[in-house]
Amino acid sequence: MVREDEKGILVRVALRCRPLVSKETSEDCQMCLSFVPMETQVVVGNDKAFTYDYVFDPSVEQEEVFNTAVSPLIRGIFKGYNATVLAYGQMGSGKTYSMGGTYTANQEYEPSVGVIPRVIKLLFEEKQQRQDWDFILRVSYLEVKVWFLSKHSQISIWEDPKEGIKIVGLTERNVTCAQETVSCLEQGNNSRTVGSTAMNSQSSRSHAIFTIFSFCPRNCSFHCKLHLVDLAGSERQKKTKAEGDRLKEGININRGLLCLGNVISALGDENKKGGFVPYRDSKLTRLLQDSLGGNSHMLMIACVSPADSNLEETLNTLYADRAR
Ligand code: ADP
Ligand code: MG
Repeated sequence: MVREDEKGILVRVALRCRPLVSKETSEDCQMCLSFVPMETQVVVGNDKAFTYDYVFDPSVEQEEVFNTAVSPLIRGIFKGYNATVLAYGQMGSGKTYSMGGTYTANQEYEPSVGVIPRVIKLLFEEKQQRQDWDFILRVSYLEVKVWFLSKHSQISIWEDPKEGIKIVGLTERNVTCAQETVSCLEQGNNSRTVGSTAMNSQSSRSHAIFTIFSFCPRNCSFHCKLHLVDLAGSERQKKTKAEGDRLKEGININRGLLCLGNVISALGDENKKGGFVPYRDSKLTRLLQDSLGGNSHMLMIACVSPADSNLEETLNTLYADRAR
């Protein structure tokens, strides 16, 4: 199931289904997805089955998601691989929950803590075990309001010969311990914009990209990037009754996601080895470029709601699995 091309690009897809939330149970929603024990399969209704590299049913907790799907990627960092963990899916499907985008310091490392704080903890544990490891870790947290990704956007991206893709004006901070790093995450989470639409008052109309950059000051050829991405909701516009600017945002979100899908399928296509990858088709793919190709490992977490009321969007997410 895992594809690896001659450059070592590895793309894996995990499907994560959250439990019904209280709003759904109070509205009498039924589960429309089922799971086959020991199979990495999700079944929609009675017959339609989809297979992924990993399938996490609603009972699977954060720790298991992390240990199974994320930590192998993180360990790759120490071997010089770039990595990207990216959550996508409709609004309210569990992207931010999964990635840890609501982390606050008083949560410490509770069971509900998501991917990013766990990555940080693991990185510093590994670093401590390697006395000879003289890498510097540097983080940035970028919120990309979807509007900025349009053609008229002012966001400036350039390519540093040593450090790869850079965004003009983005603050990068060197960090020396896990606590300092999670507080950067917390600061970023707090300032992340929340918009509201008819569907979900906590909807995030932006992509959030937390990047951990590691480099060795004495050996400038050794550096790697880890992008941890919480994408804006993939839902289509009619359901959210979007108007005006919201609608324009929606169009841009979908365009960015479509381009991302194209890049991933070009990377994963056995027949196109070494072929053209359309990174420049969108700002989102350009931003993630140096962790999407080359010496990179990638995990896509497709998040879905189990509720029958969301069936249409869920099918959309299930079919969007273009990575293989
Ligand atoms: P998104 O970021 O995709 O819009 P959220 O991460 O905000 O969605 O999740 C929507 C709601 O569902 C939140 O209240 C969140 O706490 C809850 N939720 C999501 N995933 C899970 C899960 N695996 N277990 C328990 N609650 C979850
Ligand atoms: Mg969110």
